[in-house]
Amino acid sequence: MARPTFQTLPGTRDLLPPDTDRFRALVGVFADEAARSGFSQIVPPIFEEIGVFTRLGEATDVVTKELYAFEDMGGRKQALRPEFTASVCRAFVQHRPLLPWKSWYAGPAFRQERPQKGRYRQFEQVGAEAIGSHDPDLDTELIVLAARFYQRLGLKDITLVLNTLGDKADRPAFLEALRDYFGQNLDALSQKSRETLSLNPLRVLDSKRPDDQPLIESAPRITDYLSSGAGLAFERVQAGLEALGVAYELNPRLVRGLDYYTRTTFEFLSSSLDAAQNAVGGGGRYDGLVADMGGPDEPGVGFALGVDRTVLACDSEGVFAAPDTRTQIFVVSTTGGLEGLKIAEELRSAGLRVDRAVDHRSMKAQMKAANRSRASLAVIVGPDEVAAGTASLRPLDDRPQFVVERTELVSRVKEFFPS
Ligand code: AMP
Repeated sequence: MARPTFQTLPGTRDLLPPDTDRFRALVGVFADEAARSGFSQIVPPIFEEIGVFTRLGEATDVVTKELYAFEDMGGRKQALRPEFTASVCRAFVQHRPLLPWKSWYAGPAFRQERPQKGRYRQFEQVGAEAIGSHDPDLDTELIVLAARFYQRLGLKDITLVLNTLGDKADRPAFLEALRDYFGQNLDALSQKSRETLSLNPLRVLDSKRPDDQPLIESAPRITDYLSSGAGLAFERVQAGLEALGVAYELNPRLVRGLDYYTRTTFEFLSSSLDAAQNAVGGGGRYDGLVADMGGPDEPGVGFALGVDRTVLACDSEGVFAAPDTRTQIFVVSTTGGLEGLKIAEELRSAGLRVDRAVDHRSMKAQMKAANRSRASLAVIVGPDEVAAGTASLRPLDDRPQFVVERTELVSRVKEFFPS
């Protein structure tokens, strides 16, 4: 086949069945879990004024090089969202809802990353954010909401990794310690991490490069620099998870990609995915972000889960099959009239999934299409059936064909598909 003139851009793809069905079902499960935990849906715009996102922190990759930024016809700088948290905070400041404000979302996010399996330039996220409370039990509830969601999909090979980044006030001393430590060991650091060090020493801890690992292993730990408030909150989250029987691992090197996080941070890793793309979700507290956005100094906590990667993890664990959206009935009509069309619509109105042959082809060609549709029943009408006021039902397996009264068609067909 000749290469088509146009194809999807790098890092983007067409979702096709059965993945379209799985993505939709997955969002349905998430919506249900979020509602059980008291969250309501928000649908922010896909693009915003660029400042909404550049406030995320100067030294984050997402902001420095990955943003899809453009100008509108009036020269206003804007960008496609790289994530939802900033939009949710912007919406909070704009609408000032009652506290705590608990919202969930689903939709695409955009980052100009180097594409590979599980890393795309357009990807889907579902997530939840709660603004307006410092209560660490809320952090626990959010973590458990995500954990329950994975559980409902049937995923087992998921590890929850937990850390704290302390309060903003704890940060300078810790950053200084990191700068000193890495500064004294520059030779042992990769070139890339040396660059990161000058921008944001915290992000060096996030390096996945093997040559950086020995140094990172013995780097200063935030837990030695925590204020008592941040330390107590961290203990409370751990106590909550233990009380609810949710397993977790502590990892003092978990810093997450976005700079705005404070206190609790967490990630969900799938051991059935390649290590470079094994994070299926993550989140944490962002107690200064709403204020950075020009709003009141309200704290926030939330998470975003990657739908594409979660579905990849479901594939490798062999769970969460696509819901059955297959055609149940195929209507074959050789009358040349409108009977086939009418029958199809009657059955659809009765709640059945129905397809039909188009273009008035031969009986043989229509039956071939019926078999290809993987429907389990064909409804056949020809001139004889119309004259007799009947229709023929042909099960598309070994069972024999039989005739029913046209007036009883819907109820007789329904007997075939007990719900
Ligand atoms: P982040 O805001 O970077 O923590 O992203 C949250 C989740 O979104 C990650 O854990 C991934 O599952 C997913 N994700 C982030 N970036 C990408 C990407 N480029 N392609 C696919 N999924 C992504």
